[in-house]
Amino acid sequence: MAQIGFIGLGNMGGPMATNLVNAGFAVTVFDLSADALERLQAAGAKVAATAADAVKQADIVISMLPADKHVLGLYFGEQGILDSIPAGALVVDSSTISAESARELAAGITAAGRRFIDAPVSGGVGGAKAGTLTFICGGEPADIEEARPVLEKMGKNVFTAGGHGAGQVAKICNNMLLAVLMAGTSEALQLGRAHGLDPKVLSDIMLQSSGRNWTLEVYNPCPRVMPSVPSSNDYNGGFLVDLMLKDLGLAAKTAANTNSATPMGQLATELFRQHSEAGWGSKDFSSIFQSFEPQGK
Ligand code: NAD
Repeated sequence: MAQIGFIGLGNMGGPMATNLVNAGFAVTVFDLSADALERLQAAGAKVAATAADAVKQADIVISMLPADKHVLGLYFGEQGILDSIPAGALVVDSSTISAESARELAAGITAAGRRFIDAPVSGGVGGAKAGTLTFICGGEPADIEEARPVLEKMGKNVFTAGGHGAGQVAKICNNMLLAVLMAGTSEALQLGRAHGLDPKVLSDIMLQSSGRNWTLEVYNPCPRVMPSVPSSNDYNGGFLVDLMLKDLGLAAKTAANTNSATPMGQLATELFRQHSEAGWGSKDFSSIFQSFEPQGK
């Protein structure tokens, strides 16, 4: 079985790496957080002292870091791990970063005799824990096929969007839509609530009507409508407002490259920016619901 080096054990990477351990892979992990490393050690992973040590024996390297600068730094920075990765090994970056950075990674990593695919994910922390993520890949078809048996232990769908960077473009389109849906769903639920409707009843009605969408199905933003989602846990865990804001910035950049019209994406960006500035940056993105409280309440 393939040896795996896994870097980045946060809200997503932690449960993803745990699923690989549970599937029987030899997984060596690294994160800057001691707590994250302890959790993975308890789950049965081998903990490395440095990122370079985590990848020395790896057939497949997986990274799951916050943003472009962390991923570029991990591979190409002063303490970069590129030279520590065995020749011919496959690098899978599942972080959400710009398509430009993914292509820069592909160019640098393949020039050094290793292989690369971008494989960002959708499905949230619940999907990471349940092993039901969707992987959205860009790269050489043979490399994506090689990664597939590993990705299928963390997710139930593996899509090929195109060449290097295409996975990130598809992921950014999805997250721009998600931001719009979360803001719109929150607005509708608050409007109903302001008119005395029970948000659970209104959610059930919209779920069986034409407003149905993913946020109503599995990620309701109104507290206490659904158990075990961030809104019912003081908006802790999940997908942070500031990470969504990062993705909306990537969407704006991607749109600018082709002069594409994304007015809904721009409005969502403005709403999430104001929400972050109001102090919600480290809470789950469904907390945007709170920004639609009727004025003067
Ligand atoms: P997170 O902030 O919870 O975790 C990131 C982890 O990376 C942290 O544990 C941090 O200590 C670690 N880290 C940062 N720099 C490092 C370095 N140089 N070396 C080793 N470890 C380092 O973030 P997350 O929610 O797990 O998201 C990770 C990526 O997945 C982001 O790009 C995000 O946009 C994307 N994503 C998140 C979700 C979600 O629902 N949370 C869903 C889909 C995609």
